[in-house]
Amino acid sequence: MMQLFLPLNFLGFVYREMKGSMANVERMFALLRRAPLIKDDVNAGSLAVSQGQIEFRDVSFGYGPERPILDRVSFTVRPQQKVAVVGASGAGKSTLVKLLFRFYDVDEGGVLIDGQDIRHVTQSSLRQAIGIVPQDTVLFNASIFDNIRYGRITADDDEVAEAIRLAHLDDFIARLPEGANTLVGERGLKLSGGEKQRVAIARTILKRPPILVFDEATSSLDSRSEQSILQAIREVSRGQTSLVIAHRLSTVVDADHILVMDQGRIVEQGSHQALLAKQGRYARLWQLQQQQKEPE
Ligand code: ATP
Repeated sequence: MMQLFLPLNFLGFVYREMKGSMANVERMFALLRRAPLIKDDVNAGSLAVSQGQIEFRDVSFGYGPERPILDRVSFTVRPQQKVAVVGASGAGKSTLVKLLFRFYDVDEGGVLIDGQDIRHVTQSSLRQAIGIVPQDTVLFNASIFDNIRYGRITADDDEVAEAIRLAHLDDFIARLPEGANTLVGERGLKLSGGEKQRVAIARTILKRPPILVFDEATSSLDSRSEQSILQAIREVSRGQTSLVIAHRLSTVVDADHILVMDQGRIVEQGSHQALLAKQGRYARLWQLQQQQKEPE
């Protein structure tokens, strides 16, 4: 029943959202207009993920011909490594994620997963292999439990409970009036940005994809929420290949490798310690964020 209910509920949600406001419909069409239609290659097979290695090989890209956004970007996320991307707003960090999902095709170079160019595999198999914790998570008008189960609708109650624990949502849920049965979403309880992000982490834990992408929320979180999100990210990314688009440097300190981007190029890379020792752009970003934290 639950398997049927969730997709139907989701469709209901989409319908209500669309019916509710013409502005939403317009926004959706605007999005569709902007995103080019990517088609599967006629000979496309399924992506075969063995290790979960991601490689960007000399990637150049622009949303339109008039303005290049990425300029010969090359990096590799080795199996089970955590690579973080930092840099000023507009540097091209989220664009890397859009290319990894193949929402757009690169202009030059290639994106490879376990040696397979993602242009030659089906988009469904590609997206099946990647779990994303987005900046803003959509919640359906359903219980918080079902919202989490949406990560894998065949998951049993124990698996959902385990995902709740690993995503550090158990204390929060215990305080809700009806616990995990509390309705959330537009018509129910509104969750904060940090709580929604932990719901997304719990969904991803249930999906268990070989590759993880975190697009960190830009909005500021209080330090308690930030700490529990950091711990939840650590739990879910342990032993998984993960790419983290970071807006707060506290998230990247434990990354295996950090890429610093500026205007579509990688300008520095290395571990947190190595980058601090370099006293370059990363070190300046770090000092700036430490100063902003001090008044707390
Ligand atoms: P932020 O930290 O603010 O999220 P970012 O480093 O993730 O920034 P991107 O979102 O990758 O930056 O954007 C890089 C550039 O591409 C920006 O100048 C942005 O305006 C532009 N851009 C992003 N999406 C589109 C789009 N759909 N169409 C045209 N330009 C876009």
